[in-house]
Amino acid sequence: MKRRSFLKLTGMAGLAAGVPSAAGLGSNREQSAKASHGAAQTKTPASPETILLKDYRPKSLYKIPVTEIAKAKYPIIDMHSHPDAKTSQQIEEWVRNMDEVGVEKTMILTMTTGREFDDILRKYGKYPERFEVWCGFDFTGYDKPGFGPGAIRELERCRQAGARGVGEIHDKGQGLRSGKSKASGMHPDDARMDSVWAKCGELGMPISLHVADPIWMYQKMDKNNDGLMNAYYWRLDNQPNIVGLSGMIDILERTLAKHRNTTFVACHFANLDYDLARLGEVLERNPNLYADISARYAETAPIPRFAGQFYAKYADRLVYGTDMGFDKPMYHITFRILESLDEHFYEIEQFSYHWSLNGLGLSDAVLEQVYHDNAAKLLAARG
Ligand SMILES: [Zn+2]
Repeated sequence: MKRRSFLKLTGMAGLAAGVPSAAGLGSNREQSAKASHGAAQTKTPASPETILLKDYRPKSLYKIPVTEIAKAKYPIIDMHSHPDAKTSQQIEEWVRNMDEVGVEKTMILTMTTGREFDDILRKYGKYPERFEVWCGFDFTGYDKPGFGPGAIRELERCRQAGARGVGEIHDKGQGLRSGKSKASGMHPDDARMDSVWAKCGELGMPISLHVADPIWMYQKMDKNNDGLMNAYYWRLDNQPNIVGLSGMIDILERTLAKHRNTTFVACHFANLDYDLARLGEVLERNPNLYADISARYAETAPIPRFAGQFYAKYADRLVYGTDMGFDKPMYHITFRILESLDEHFYEIEQFSYHWSLNGLGLSDAVLEQVYHDNAAKLLAARG
């Protein structure tokens, strides 16, 4: 979910205006604008005794190289974005930005079906070489007997219209969701979903599936919470009847095992960016799984050596994604983190963390796979 829609949903938009930490994790230009607005409001000089974590804006003191990368080293296929451009002018601007930063093609994960899907498809259809528009699921009647055929009919209709994949489908522990269509309490491994996942495989439609959320959302909101700056506004620790992060990974694995002919892309490292060793095991056990790296740059940049080793070991299973709008500085930051060996830099307005970041300095071979080749292979395999 995008933070903006979350804020709208919970009526927290006003709060966000004064809280820079509410942006990031899939932030976009609007959120960044809100964030900097918030920073400006809190500019009155505070005593170091009372500076709040949310207002902390350290600047690196090191005189060390700063790498600016305006264009990615290899052509990119972006496997995780959303219909953030609303007007044809904005879509044109997006295409220009893609040209400048080196993005060949972007997957637009609409999460929608029906007319809403058709409208988005029409808008982006002007650039069939640059965008793929993926549909969602219609969960209508999921809680009544006979669920399946209706959802499949709509899936087939969207496929016919031009959807070559499905996403982004969420389950943050409370059940499946495709945009506004919700299936509370029905998780991906539910038998009711079997025919739907199987049909995706038959139709050659990979699924972009978001399970769980960052670990700090589940942890206690106290002085030991490493993600506290973001966590407090995104907390899940106070949600009743929620399947925890580890339980959601088990659900993901059961789903993958049941549907070997269906290809899944786990969004955001399956939220195992804090435990990449476990993600490695999940990838090894499940050949029908890829993971996208979208909106988890700030989460992997604090551990550049460990993350770099992970990228090297699973270079054939990771795909590039953004999930953070379409402005050029956003793309540039992802390049700096993946390509450079820069150390100890901050990107607080983009990611909202107080953590300092480091470049991973990925090798050319790894970059080429993650930026492009794995996605190209996955997309080509659809036939
Ligand atoms: Zn997303």
